[in-house]
Amino acid sequence: MTNPTAPVTHHKVIILGSGPAGLTAAIYTARANLSPLLLHGPLAGGQLTTTTDVENFPGFPEGVMGPELMQLMEKQASRFGTTVVVDTVMKADLSRRPFTLQGQSGSYSCDSLIIATGAAPKYIGAKNERELLGFGVSTCATCDGAFFRNKVIAVVGGGDSACEEASFLTRFASKLYLIHRRENLRASKIMQDRVLSNPKIEMVWNKHVVSVEGSKKDGVTGLVLEDTQTKETSTLATDALFVAIGHTPNSQLFVEQLGMDSNGYLLHEPNSASTRVPGVFVCGDVQDHVFRQAITAAGSGCMAAIEAERWLESHHQ
Ligand code: NAP
Repeated sequence: MTNPTAPVTHHKVIILGSGPAGLTAAIYTARANLSPLLLHGPLAGGQLTTTTDVENFPGFPEGVMGPELMQLMEKQASRFGTTVVVDTVMKADLSRRPFTLQGQSGSYSCDSLIIATGAAPKYIGAKNERELLGFGVSTCATCDGAFFRNKVIAVVGGGDSACEEASFLTRFASKLYLIHRRENLRASKIMQDRVLSNPKIEMVWNKHVVSVEGSKKDGVTGLVLEDTQTKETSTLATDALFVAIGHTPNSQLFVEQLGMDSNGYLLHEPNSASTRVPGVFVCGDVQDHVFRQAITAAGSGCMAAIEAERWLESHHQ
């Protein structure tokens, strides 16, 4: 539901999304005196708020909790004059300038738009999967793999993501189970070969994860699996479950307005955050299916902000 009677507020720059990309874009545009408006939905801080310790963000030698890192970034953005508003945008019109956005509670227009709406990991729907997220269940091997040194790890999925995560996690795991719901991997041949020849990886074919066993106190202790053919159930002892069945970029608002690849990731010019619509810039996971790190998202947010600032300077005195 939108509120079409809400007065439209105009801004030089609107940033959509409050993950590391959006907040970095906010810090830079705010310091450039552009008084940005940052809009975000109910989950402030994006995907990092669903992790616990972040040990690979530079500047935090002891690590930092994901939610705390995002609060610090928001504080920094606010300090320089970013206005943060919680409002889920339901509709965007990029066909003319100023661009217009319809939120659930407000209407907005802007000369320049920075899209940092992120991506959502897909979940398998197993019992306790969401409850134990950050307590042994993870959707990011690079982020959380090091917490499971010399432990048993299970990965679920059969595509390139799952194979890549599984191979990477064998650096830490004493033993790794790759659980797939069929008996053929979808991944590219080279990734399959890497997984199938790795002595630490044991394939668990034709199995679906029904439930994750454990607690927030003890972490993950095991999985209940169901055979996709015989429907028989079994258990598998593991210390962690990495869900690697893909991500969905949050780009639905921009279908037919911006270029996107076949998976919905927004396209931009090479070495630039510019899209095919002048004045619209993209950053973070909504345009990146390769790196997906907080630091790369933040870097691309900085690029988008600098480009938006330069674009505004040349188009709006
Ligand atoms: P994907 O290719 O769509 O594979 C998803 C995998 O998860 C499939 O094997 C699928 O099973 C399984 N799956 C989906 N839903 C499931 C569920 N509910 N329960 C259990 N399993 C489920 O996704 P992706 O691996 O993230 O790759 C996405 C794109 O990025 C691909 O084009 C890929 O090539 C690319 N990518 C490339 C690299 C690289 O080159 N280094 C790395 C990562 C991703 P089924 O096979 O039965 O459908």
